[in-house]
Amino acid sequence: MNKINCNIIGDLLPLYVDGAVSEDTKKLVEEHLAECADCKKAAEDMRKELVLPVHETVRAAETSFLQKMKKTWQKRRIRTAVISVAVTAGVILGSYMALTIPQWIIPYKPVDFSVAVEDGMVCVYYTGKGRINCSYGYDGEDEFFLYFTQSPWSAYVEPLLEDAEQEEPYRYQIDSVDCIAKVYYGEFSKGLDVLYGKEAEMAAQTELIWIRDEASQ
Ligand SMILES: [Zn+2]
Repeated sequence: MNKINCNIIGDLLPLYVDGAVSEDTKKLVEEHLAECADCKKAAEDMRKELVLPVHETVRAAETSFLQKMKKTWQKRRIRTAVISVAVTAGVILGSYMALTIPQWIIPYKPVDFSVAVEDGMVCVYYTGKGRINCSYGYDGEDEFFLYFTQSPWSAYVEPLLEDAEQEEPYRYQIDSVDCIAKVYYGEFSKGLDVLYGKEAEMAAQTELIWIRDEASQ
């Protein structure tokens, strides 16, 4: 190998490494590199200097971009999750309120109601459809007034959630049979500001569903 060739190759190397030489020049350089260890090493060093840093910079930029995207995506995902939870909770709460807030008084039907004395206590049973939402009772002298209410939830949803085989009639225990002579069912509070002393008025608005059998005492 003569020195001139190495100098010429040295001038060409940057272009060669960049791939900016003609096929003929490329062939000439490669022939020289195959036989000259010094120039081969110079070419390799130049490749490391020129190519690797660029590659690493690009890769670092890509990584940073991807991490940024990932963070943004995670933030969006959290926000979406929070919104979803809030919307779901709102829908559930709204549905529950719509199902539980409207209430109506269960109308009296002899087939759905029964009154019995058990262990000396007067008890009202409801065997009709759905569950009882609330019971309202008023104790006058020896007369008792009551009504039951239902909501869409207790009337239609609750029976679906419970085991039908374990279903027991709703039981409302009033008082000792010694204290109760008559049981009335119906909406007794309507238009009555004070209940006390209005038993006759209440009796007119409600239905007499049970009278104590004096002989059975
Ligand atoms: Zn050389």
